[in-house]
Amino acid sequence: MKHIVIVGGGYAGATAAHWIARLGRQRSRVTLINERAEFSERVRMHQLASGKILPTRRLAELSARVRLIVGRVERVDPADRRVLLADGGTVSYDSLILAPGSAARQPDFEVSGPLHSVATHQEALRLRAAVASTVVGDPVTVIGAGLTGLELATELSAVGHRVRVLESDTLAAWAHHRARRWLRAELPRLGVELVATTVRGVEAGLLQTDLGELRSALTVWAGGFVPPDLLGDCGQLNERGQLIVDRALRVPGHPEVLVAGDSAGVVDQAGRPLRMACQTAVPMGARAAGNALRIVHGRPVQRFRMRYVGTNLALGPGHGLTQVSDFDDSPLPVYFTGPASARVKEIASRGAAWSATGS
Ligand SMILES: Cc1cc2nc3c(=O)[nH]c(=O)nc-3n(C[C@H](O)[C@H](O)[C@H](O)COP(=O)(O)OP(=O)(O)OC[C@H]3O[C@@H](n4cnc5c(N)ncnc54)[C@H](O)[C@@H]3O)c2cc1C
Repeated sequence: MKHIVIVGGGYAGATAAHWIARLGRQRSRVTLINERAEFSERVRMHQLASGKILPTRRLAELSARVRLIVGRVERVDPADRRVLLADGGTVSYDSLILAPGSAARQPDFEVSGPLHSVATHQEALRLRAAVASTVVGDPVTVIGAGLTGLELATELSAVGHRVRVLESDTLAAWAHHRARRWLRAELPRLGVELVATTVRGVEAGLLQTDLGELRSALTVWAGGFVPPDLLGDCGQLNERGQLIVDRALRVPGHPEVLVAGDSAGVVDQAGRPLRMACQTAVPMGARAAGNALRIVHGRPVQRFRMRYVGTNLALGPGHGLTQVSDFDDSPLPVYFTGPASARVKEIASRGAAWSATGS
């Protein structure tokens, strides 16, 4: 029986495990290796950090046909077709799906004081403890006004904190200019101050910026994601640190290794890298699963094609901005806001978790 191993049980990896369990029947077995026993609903990490209780989904309950190993993969050895675990164990494979996601990118400024992040479950829990011990009224700073930074800032503002977001670049470049204008006007109404500046350093209780020193009781870095180092064992990385794959998600030189989710360096028809998003990770996980089965059973693989429909930005409980897009992710002059947007975001988030875990 052929053995398919999946590294990472997030949106891409759990979806892949689920699909292989359903499609592989008796001719292949699947092992999922994840650092935690539970599925991390990463799109809700800003809610976890601000004090919400999230439902627990155990990866062991995915399917009786998925063997779960809770552990950390330290290295991949594609020459011998095996992965090496932090506890010294090894797992051999016929086909491997790498889906270890991403974590917070290293900041490009000096850091000598506490700097939090919300990119992973552990970081969100640490931030949650720091938020709980921050006095309401003391300044909270989020560095980076991307989707994650804005979702966190508005969530913290909704629970009473005084929040400012520092950004050196264009606000919401992913949105149509009308949606961007609406967002710029809406943030102050939600109690979030947007400051255009570049951060030069983070010290204890203080930020060094182009505008001078800013006092900050709690500082969070939301400057983007980067995949783990692990991927470099298998092939060439792109400028975002993702492992470059072909259109069928296979690693050049190691066609039995596939990559899915934030770790996959996939480009669209126009050669642009795809967005790191659960919206991308779920269909990629499904395609990687199908192709892993095709590879181990000697059948031709299929190409992965992504079709986007929009971007959802949560702006605190019951509020948001939904930017409708073309299939290629370019914004259309259509957007909606408020409770309708929040409902769409909730349906999308639940749908992604359901696709990955079946619950
Ligand atoms: C606060 C926040 C809000 C977001 N909101 C949205 C949104 O609204 N819409 C959207 O589309 N996207 C959103 N994203 C992005 C989205 O969460 C990611 O793009 C998505 O999680 C990527 O899925 P993945 O399966 O590639 O990786 P992940 O979901 O990160 O899963 C990777 C898994 O691999 C495990 N892992 C990593 N390394 C190892 C290792 N060495 N050994 C074993 N296991 C390992 C991790 O523990 C994790 O369980 C948000 C992200 C954050 C942080």
